[in-house]
Amino acid sequence: MVAAVSSWRADDGPGRAVELITSGRARTRTALAEALGLARSTLGQRLQPLLASGLVLESEELVSSGGRPSRALRLNPRAGVVISIDVGEERTRVAITDLDAAILAERVLTLRLDDGPEELLETISTAARQALQESDLLGVPVAGIGLGLPAAVDFRAGRVSGWSIMSGWDGFDIRGHLRRTWQVPVLVDNDVNVQTVAEHHRFWPQVSHLFYVKIGTGVGSGMVIDGCVNRGAQGVAGDIGHAHVGGHGDPQCRCGNRGCLESLVGGWALARDLRGDSHPQMHDARDVARQAKLGEVDAVTRLRAAGRILGEAVAFSANLLNPDVIVLGGLLSASGDHLMAGVLESIYQRSLPLTTRKLRIVPTGYRSRSGIAGATYLVRDHVLDPARLDRLLGAGLGPFAVDEN
Ligand SMILES: [Zn+2]
Repeated sequence: MVAAVSSWRADDGPGRAVELITSGRARTRTALAEALGLARSTLGQRLQPLLASGLVLESEELVSSGGRPSRALRLNPRAGVVISIDVGEERTRVAITDLDAAILAERVLTLRLDDGPEELLETISTAARQALQESDLLGVPVAGIGLGLPAAVDFRAGRVSGWSIMSGWDGFDIRGHLRRTWQVPVLVDNDVNVQTVAEHHRFWPQVSHLFYVKIGTGVGSGMVIDGCVNRGAQGVAGDIGHAHVGGHGDPQCRCGNRGCLESLVGGWALARDLRGDSHPQMHDARDVARQAKLGEVDAVTRLRAAGRILGEAVAFSANLLNPDVIVLGGLLSASGDHLMAGVLESIYQRSLPLTTRKLRIVPTGYRSRSGIAGATYLVRDHVLDPARLDRLLGAGLGPFAVDEN
């Protein structure tokens, strides 16, 4: 633990100042002094470590806040870069972003997930270093690493927990391993939770209850409750992909069980069904999405039916969670309106009128790379946490130092 040597209170420290600046509630020294209840000179002391570290900039732009115009304070998105990693079943993206999730460099890798954690993390670290080098960013501080994995993740521990398609990762200390190379904060989460974070931050920050469903090769979901992602006790909250859905023949699932939602509507399952219907070219979610986009009748019919089954599971979740908005993401959600049409059909049939009265059901606003954006937002939320910033700056450390709290 980092010992604080300052006498800041939680509600008037530099962390709180950053929060007011980033939320737009205070953009000048005058407004900040008023919001924090501080004299101008005391405020200057609070701002000093923020300005010195480059995390906050005082720009030439003048803002009028009633009295005489004063210079604008803003978060500097280039104060540090984030290494954002989206590990996928088919490809892995390693990106360097700024603190606003703008991508500055990117590498796309084809990794075999069963190669095991050490080899994969080394490959990822090498790709990140090359991306930093090529984009001339080696001198910029790394604010942190955000990593999304197609597995159940114990978010606090930074480890995979339990069964996943990533064999050999269960219990492996991912955070510890990456920290040996990078010495920066490392945030590891399930890929669907990461996408949920991205969706909420970017498109629905004002919404308190959001349910996100990803339908690609696999199926998963994440939820925002009272403004925060809810991960549950073991990090698998909202994983509807392997919940049983009866009445559709109980096919074999990848997890070993039968009749899981994913075994009925996941991209691999649809490809399996269509292949059986004499479409030998169907191998994965991408093939299904491509054929549906082209209007191929069997693919469209299958996708719409999958939408109805998915809608049954989503309706159940909607009744349980009463969200403001349900967002549909993933490769298959981007293959035309067929899936969404099926989902809507089931949800309005099966949900309580009170649940659906104000409910919005929308496709994701991301065309791609929500996993990268979400990984950056995880790091950003962590490093800008007011209590954490107060602890580190109070101890004379930089804003991107490692803090075990
Ligand atoms: Zn399953």
